[in-house]
Amino acid sequence: MDGGRATLVLGSTNAGKLRELADLLVPLGIPCRSLADEPHAVEVEETGGSFAENAALKATAQARALGAWVLAEDSGLVVDALGGAPGIYSARFSGAGATDAANNALLLERLAHHRGADRGAHYACHAALADPAGGIVATSAGTCAGRIASAPSGAGGFGYDPLFVVPEYHRTFGELPPAVKAVISHRARALRALIPALVRHLAPQAAAPPAAGAR
Ligand code: IMP
Repeated sequence: MDGGRATLVLGSTNAGKLRELADLLVPLGIPCRSLADEPHAVEVEETGGSFAENAALKATAQARALGAWVLAEDSGLVVDALGGAPGIYSARFSGAGATDAANNALLLERLAHHRGADRGAHYACHAALADPAGGIVATSAGTCAGRIASAPSGAGGFGYDPLFVVPEYHRTFGELPPAVKAVISHRARALRALIPALVRHLAPQAAAPPAAGAR
């Protein structure tokens, strides 16, 4: 608790995700911590068969372990020409402990014979909010459509962002400012859909009407 308000634990250790989630939550004024600040956080095996299942697994397991509200998400890149791969395996596309650079190199290799419209893809993000007993109280999802470039561009974002071209901007997420990604990304969309539940459970004063006579 923070001044009587519940704290929200962001159920991820991915620095890129955490940065984006924390920035998206700032306007709500909900105190947040990450798993890095939680000595009792557990390692959660992502055994689900979908983004939604993995998001719920992570939220429930961390909430139970920590006795805290947890917002978890599972996200990844879905490439049309690869039958949806890497999908839920995006983080470990090139093997356990994969680096972003190795994953991006493998993606380029797999798409070497695909051109133009045949390089369509989207990012997907499913989010789940668990109460301190581990019960899932809200879920949401968001997507962002794009195309895979033939070479990386830009150092912004994380993961596949230097290869992910956003058609409206003709730029990769690696090149675009974080403010653009914060509006149109799969993660931003999923989080925005979760705002009513976050406010209801963790920032009820933000939703309360002003007291009578208040200015
Ligand atoms: P998770 O931690 O199992 O959800 O895996 C997420 C993985 O999907 C990341 O490690 C990235 O490889 C990829 N990914 C998800 N969201 C993004 C994004 O916004 N930009 C770039 N890569 C992403």
